[in-house]
Amino acid sequence: MIESRLQQNLQQIQFQIAEACRRSSRDPGDIRLVAVTKYAQWEWVTALAGLHSVFGENRPQQLAERQQLLPDVQWHLIGQLQRNKVRLALQHAACIHSVDSLKLLERIALIAEELNIRPPVLLEVNISGEESKSGFSAAELRSCWDQIIDVARHMQISGMMTMAPASDDPQAARPYFTALRELRDVLQQRSPAEICLNELSMGMSGDFEIAVEEGATLVRIGSALFEGLD
Ligand SMILES: *Cc1c(COP(=O)(O)O)cnc(C)c1O
Repeated sequence: MIESRLQQNLQQIQFQIAEACRRSSRDPGDIRLVAVTKYAQWEWVTALAGLHSVFGENRPQQLAERQQLLPDVQWHLIGQLQRNKVRLALQHAACIHSVDSLKLLERIALIAEELNIRPPVLLEVNISGEESKSGFSAAELRSCWDQIIDVARHMQISGMMTMAPASDDPQAARPYFTALRELRDVLQQRSPAEICLNELSMGMSGDFEIAVEEGATLVRIGSALFEGLD
């Protein structure tokens, strides 16, 4: 029952991604669905693990616990990371989407060097400039870019992540997704060859089709995936 519903939701989302790709002449193989499990019951998570292998969690503690129980799944951290949880996150997350300050970047660099790893990270950008959102401002990223590249020697900066302002109209998100892509293009041009800002983590249940049309490579979807389960 749970499994068939999940399969149905997953297929529906994949169909919508494929349609958005068709509209924008993209290859669906370039888009990864991050199944956001932060509100999902454990029973649903285990059922989903039989169907899908990239999951996202908001909290490092819950990510670490679930990663140990389902180690074959790739767990992405998508929520705010406190500096005292960096070690935990690096030990359990396959990718951190939510690096939102230079101080956090410095902390990750320190622990990554200690653990002798080069973790993939995305820089979270507050592209809308809303007070309530965390992330680098676009201006800050542009002005600190050389410094960021320098701090990030022990990481792979793989791209950017953003959240559009909440809205009932998915089209309202489009300018923010376009702006993130354009910012990425500018910063890519200013980067040495070894830095590949290929990933754009943008789009959630309400706006992922628009995000795909605007170049998302990672869409983070929770509620649409678990719809109809309770
Ligand atoms: C919860 C969450 C999502 C998923 O949101 P839905 O609207 O449930 O798809 C995506 N990204 C982040 C950062 C989240 O916190």
